[in-house]
Amino acid sequence: MEIEFFGAAREVTGSCHIVRTGGKTILLDCGLFQGKRKESEKKNLTLPVPVGEIDAIVLSHAHMDHAGRLPYLTSKGYDGSIWCTAATHDLAAIMLADSAHIQEMDAKYLSERNREAVQPLYNGEDAREAVEKMVGVPYNRTFEVLPGVTALYTDAGHILGSASVELEVREGGSSKRLVFSGDVGRWGLAIIRDPQPPRRADAVIMESTYGNRDHESVDGARDKLAQAVTETAARGGRLLIPAFSVGRTQEIVYGLHVLALAGRIPKIPIYIDSPLATDATAIFEAHPEVYDRSEDLVSTTNDLFRFDLVRYTRDVEESKKLNTMHGPMVIIAASGMAEGGRILHHLRHGASDPRNTILVVGFMAEHTLGRRIVDRAETLKIFGEEVPLRANVEIINGYSAHADRTELQRWLDAVKGTSPSLERVFLVHGEPEAQDALAGQLESHGYRASCPTPGTKVQL
Ligand SMILES: [Zn+2]
Ligand SMILES: [Zn+2]
Repeated sequence: MEIEFFGAAREVTGSCHIVRTGGKTILLDCGLFQGKRKESEKKNLTLPVPVGEIDAIVLSHAHMDHAGRLPYLTSKGYDGSIWCTAATHDLAAIMLADSAHIQEMDAKYLSERNREAVQPLYNGEDAREAVEKMVGVPYNRTFEVLPGVTALYTDAGHILGSASVELEVREGGSSKRLVFSGDVGRWGLAIIRDPQPPRRADAVIMESTYGNRDHESVDGARDKLAQAVTETAARGGRLLIPAFSVGRTQEIVYGLHVLALAGRIPKIPIYIDSPLATDATAIFEAHPEVYDRSEDLVSTTNDLFRFDLVRYTRDVEESKKLNTMHGPMVIIAASGMAEGGRILHHLRHGASDPRNTILVVGFMAEHTLGRRIVDRAETLKIFGEEVPLRANVEIINGYSAHADRTELQRWLDAVKGTSPSLERVFLVHGEPEAQDALAGQLESHGYRASCPTPGTKVQL
């Protein structure tokens, strides 16, 4: 088997790895490149291989940096299956529709601004076609991807439906097992189960987003959340939380629910200002089979995401009204890296008020507005306007849904524990600094670790 590294190679976004065996080609993920507009636009238009050559796609989870280019493939004529878990199928349906909507709006905006026709990467119809090709399969059950190639999903513990993939390829008389970590989650995260490392691997493709640091503990994150709500409320300010609509938003709402029940936060309104988050919450509620039953709140209530302080706002008018309201409140809105979405309106309105707090609860990639907030830039450019950043900026790393370097090591050591032949580890999905640090750490633990660049081919 041959692996060719294409996306998320020496960077975080655009997850896509090409596996070739016996004249067949399988893609592991096909995600969007995000970051600098011009650069990512070009990358997003570049197919990993001609569409006619792709025989199957195995998807790790529904995040757009993993699934976001699937509609582009179907728009170009991809007609094979897209394997995924059942929850990933449902989440991808709303997330790809949303992504298509964003592509279409962006194209419209650019067409008007540049006075020339700009085509979206794909449209809503392409997204629907991609979802139709998705085949949901349960965790821990072997399925046939193609003749001679089987796969098994284990829970990656990262977001609802997220999976690591154990791919078994039979060539001639022997077989080889390639494990793809997908995005590895963390032990002890709210709602979802702990990561379940695959058991058999000859080689591993592993993510490395946080390969050079450790996070705060999950409990520490909840304490900080309580503190941010309490302090901002005491100043009469707003707590603005840019958050991915899927996963992070539900996790924060769940955390606020636990804190509210314990009387640890003041009773101020909490607005979830995102139609996508509202839809995603319904999908969480439809998949209790993947919940972590050992958690108190999960075991005591069916309404994890609904309690008296929470309001879900769907239409634009309701959203706009939030800006004219007074008094302390919490607003959770997308996008997670503050690159688009309703959070931009709230930031334009609230970033210059020192009573407010912008709470960063997720990874902010380079060249995003979110990263400028983390870096506490003097001004933020929002809708072409320079807005002074005078609000407090608080950062909670403990909310990461990605394993840190210790957890990645733990995950990999567990795979190794049941895979005596495992030696080679290919690091993907990380910025170079994080990758190089993790590669060094793994080498010192006896692994052969490398950080392939795009186009690197490896024979197994
Ligand atoms: Zn992810
Ligand atoms: Zn990812």
